[in-house]
Amino acid sequence: MALIVQKYGGTSVGSPERIKAVAERVKRWKDKGNDVVVVVSAMSGETNRLTALMNDVNPEGSCREKDVILATGEQVTIGLLSMALTGMDCPAISYTGTQVKILTDNAYSKARIKEIDSNPINEDLAEGKVVVVAGFQGVDDDGNITTLGRGGSDTTAVALAVALEADECQIYTDVDGVYTTDPRVVPEASHIPSLALEEMLEMASQGSKVLQIRAVEFAYKYNMPIRVLSSFDDDENAKSTLVTREEEVMEKVMVRGVAFNRDEAQLTISGVSDQPGVAVKILGPISDANIEVDMIVQNIGSDGSTDFTFTVHRNDYDQAKKILNQTGAELGARSCSGDDRIAKISIVGVGMRSHAGVASEMFKALADEGINIRMISTSEIKVSVVIDEKYLELATRTLHDAFDMA
Ligand code: ASP
Ligand code: MG
Repeated sequence: MALIVQKYGGTSVGSPERIKAVAERVKRWKDKGNDVVVVVSAMSGETNRLTALMNDVNPEGSCREKDVILATGEQVTIGLLSMALTGMDCPAISYTGTQVKILTDNAYSKARIKEIDSNPINEDLAEGKVVVVAGFQGVDDDGNITTLGRGGSDTTAVALAVALEADECQIYTDVDGVYTTDPRVVPEASHIPSLALEEMLEMASQGSKVLQIRAVEFAYKYNMPIRVLSSFDDDENAKSTLVTREEEVMEKVMVRGVAFNRDEAQLTISGVSDQPGVAVKILGPISDANIEVDMIVQNIGSDGSTDFTFTVHRNDYDQAKKILNQTGAELGARSCSGDDRIAKISIVGVGMRSHAGVASEMFKALADEGINIRMISTSEIKVSVVIDEKYLELATRTLHDAFDMA
């Protein structure tokens, strides 16, 4: 007998039929003697529908009210799923984030979970009930409803699993796990049966969209195993991906996957003086504007001056460019330039720790295809390059091939 937290995403609960199918699956787990807590998203399309509604009424509306509206999507699903379960003689009870008490800070639309009161849930489980919790939402110290950011139900599920000390957090979605790269770009991409939490963390932050990055951060921090499964496959032996502690990963490989992100833009300021305090003068105003910077490269100085390049999300490009132009004028820079047609591509794998030469193999494979590398950054288990966006598909296929991932 185990305590399992399951999360079902929007497509998994997208219609009354789908909700009944989820209820049957939950009941099967319960009938095997497990305690089950279920986290659900809004029905597919609902969060977008609500967002469009608020934009129609008042795009500049208050963030508090936006979260009040957005949280309703999940509230509908928890009620429906509970009703479906009780209709199958499986006792169940639904809770909103406020009712559980999933306490968050008050950063509306991107709140962070601070604490979860697990007592009421444990009491219900002890009474034999399935507990159904609304994903993506919480409540702040003053009782205001908050939401956790798009895709936030994954985070709710992992955070609940941690708070309840669950044996596993299962994320049900419309794919049967994590692949070596996006199968829409490389149809030969392979299914990964298990990988390390740290690898998943890098893959998610480098652009893999299977799991919300915050959820993986949470799981990594608390060592909570996550299993990604398809809610559309009823086969007992259906494939899945277990994201777990490194020691428990079945197969060791040098490169686990190729992740990419086309939502990036590059900015360069040239000819600034090479002295203490310049980096903060350049990046300070960018972060003051709440723009997240990803890669940063500063050149070796020559003649007392240097160049500085960094990347931001493509949506932030125009604003960042404006800010940089201003900084450039203040610092007497030679020029400021930028490009919003770039993409970042990364190879990830814990095996890199013990293998020198992975990076040069990567660079060679790209060079053989005539793909120019504009920026490079590395960590212990990742090598990322920035390239022209138009080569992204080719580069992904090339690297997938070069490291034998098919
Ligand atoms: N319903 C929210 C969204 O669509 C949260 C989630 O699905 O995880 O982003
Ligand atoms: Mg979702």
